[in-house]
Amino acid sequence: MPDLPDLIPLDDAQRRVLDGIVPLEAVTVDIAAATGLALTAPAHSPVTVPPWTNSAMDGFAVIGADVAAATAAGPVELEVLGEVPAGRAPDEAVTPGAALRIMTGAMLPPGADTVVPVEDTDAPAGASDIPARVAVFAPTSTGGNVRREGSDVAAGAQLLPAGRALDPAAIALLAATGQATATVHRRPRVAVLSTGDELVPPGTALGPAQIHESNSFTLAAQAAEAGAEVRRMGTAKDTLDDLLALVREAMAWGDVVVLSGGVSVGAHDHVKAAFGSVGTLDVWRVAIKPGRPFAFGRASVDGRPVYLFGLPGNPVSVFVTFELFVRPVLRRLGGHTRIFDRPVRMVRLEERIRGSSGRQTVARVVLAADPERPDGLVARSSGGQDSHMLFSLASANALLFVPPDTDLAAGGEAVAWELRGRDA
Ligand code: AMP
Ligand code: MG
Repeated sequence: MPDLPDLIPLDDAQRRVLDGIVPLEAVTVDIAAATGLALTAPAHSPVTVPPWTNSAMDGFAVIGADVAAATAAGPVELEVLGEVPAGRAPDEAVTPGAALRIMTGAMLPPGADTVVPVEDTDAPAGASDIPARVAVFAPTSTGGNVRREGSDVAAGAQLLPAGRALDPAAIALLAATGQATATVHRRPRVAVLSTGDELVPPGTALGPAQIHESNSFTLAAQAAEAGAEVRRMGTAKDTLDDLLALVREAMAWGDVVVLSGGVSVGAHDHVKAAFGSVGTLDVWRVAIKPGRPFAFGRASVDGRPVYLFGLPGNPVSVFVTFELFVRPVLRRLGGHTRIFDRPVRMVRLEERIRGSSGRQTVARVVLAADPERPDGLVARSSGGQDSHMLFSLASANALLFVPPDTDLAAGGEAVAWELRGRDA
């Protein structure tokens, strides 16, 4: 047996990886390109919204007291003085016994305090000439159907906290308060590379002893899903020189370099030596299954930190170790407040799920609604759990954590991370 370091417990390894990692610098970006990015500081409103009092309905701007007693049996007749369309300031006031036709979002004219919906009058709905008079068939209480200046947002108010990821609603609020740009943490740059003499790209026929390279596609998709800017850098041959050349090229661009393969104890596994050569190897071998050979290191390029991930080559190990280690780092770099962001569920096991000796097992499972508990979930294995089995990974919608040295019995409970929506 080679002399190997002790396995590091998962939570300890996660702490060691995240230690000292801080969010990337601030950049100011167009709100149209800011989806998913996190604010570096709270956003405040430079303006009042609505900026002026306006109508919430198509109808007639009136004095509330004039229409308070209107009914179908006793309609109130008002003189129509003119009209206020959207986008034009009113040029006359409403006086007792009179009204101005008004459109949704148009400025409430002086004198008026209430809007009677067109549906409560004898005026035709839709495009039509301004009537000379209008009969009101139903009462509207004073102030009804009016949107007051500042009723949504006061000038100077805090709109969004620091760390808030700009989702569609947050972007709507920035736009509506007149802000064309947002100051956010820069998107992390992730350089992905593979190692292995046996790998050929998909789309190529396999020669003897070759397999299709899949990890760089998995990782690029996972990094993009986590909000990163991604470059696939290609595949290094199983020599230290070739690997070092590609790692250096990746470091010149990436904040994060993610390699797969070549990290174990094989005779042609050069990743650890490469990390030691360009920086430090800080974590190697974690008490998890799959993913035990996981390696992490740090380097810097002209003072800019670069984080180095050496993920095991097996395709499922790649996926799982990205979820456990790389995704939280990308979230931290992006300035997100919750870095372990997958929804955590306590689930009931439909069947026995085996753990492993000395290691935390991360099982691929299918979660579904629990027929026996309202709002509960049940888990079953998504299929073969070996680390080369991508079919059961693609069938899974969650990862389930089995503590070391434990077999979970059917009916027992365990923690799962949901990865995507459930089908049932
Ligand atoms: P290694 O750690 O380099 O010995 O790789 C472990 C296993 O993962 C081997 O079966 C490799 O062929 C496979 N593997 C490594 N890299 C990739 C990749 N990029 N795509 C698909 N399989 C890979
Ligand atoms: Mg290899």
